[in-house]
Amino acid sequence: MSDTNTPDRKIIIAVDGFSSCGKSTFAKAIAARLGYIFIDTGAMYRAVTLYALEHGAIRSGIVDEEQVVRLLDRISIAFRFNPERGASDIYVDGERAEGRIRTIEVSNCVSRVSAIPEVRAKLVAMQQEMGRRKGVVMDGRDIGTVVFPDAELKLFMTADPAVRARRRYDELRAKGDCVSLAEVERNVRSRDEADMSRAVAPLRQAADAVVLDNSRMSVEEQMEWFMDLYRKTCGAPAR
Ligand code: C5P
Repeated sequence: MSDTNTPDRKIIIAVDGFSSCGKSTFAKAIAARLGYIFIDTGAMYRAVTLYALEHGAIRSGIVDEEQVVRLLDRISIAFRFNPERGASDIYVDGERAEGRIRTIEVSNCVSRVSAIPEVRAKLVAMQQEMGRRKGVVMDGRDIGTVVFPDAELKLFMTADPAVRARRRYDELRAKGDCVSLAEVERNVRSRDEADMSRAVAPLRQAADAVVLDNSRMSVEEQMEWFMDLYRKTCGAPAR
């Protein structure tokens, strides 16, 4: 349900930050609260990675960049709203891929795939089209810096790496994935490193982004903090 005390003017809310700090959970909650569309751009990079794995462009962890680029013309990525989840599921070539994009195998290769300029160009263009009419909460790494540098509200989320690894580990274990905490922590740290150091659209905080460190905050506390910021940004009366 959307908040009735929110202004009519729709804006773009960019949520960037490190791996596994709850960006998607929080961005989804914001979208539900405001009646906005939630777009998980990490799912799109994961979808390309899954497709590359399934079509032989990644073998034994080695990414054949040229082959990934060739596959880009063939892959179809779409979101479809799933009322049970209250969010959109990602479809790759017409098949729901929510579970398959979140395995540790995909996580281990996605930063290399997302550093390929052609991959970024294609996905950024899709993301800009999805946000054209505003009223979106988009989470990722470069939303406030590259995809929507003029977004009216930008958040940069962070949390202690050990807390983030534990959250992702609990999530994977709950789904029956047999990973160790050490492996998840290695993955979280190496993805951060790769995302920050890549040449194209590296992960960095936009100058006008507001930092949210949620190491010790519940989703409810984060929401209260956010709504205050949102009302100030949009000029709605504080409640
Ligand atoms: O958000 P999530 O952790 O699912 O993202 C998976 C990976 O996709 C990130 O580690 C990053 O390499 C890439 N990504 C990106 N730009 C975005 C969103 C995700 O490069 N806007």
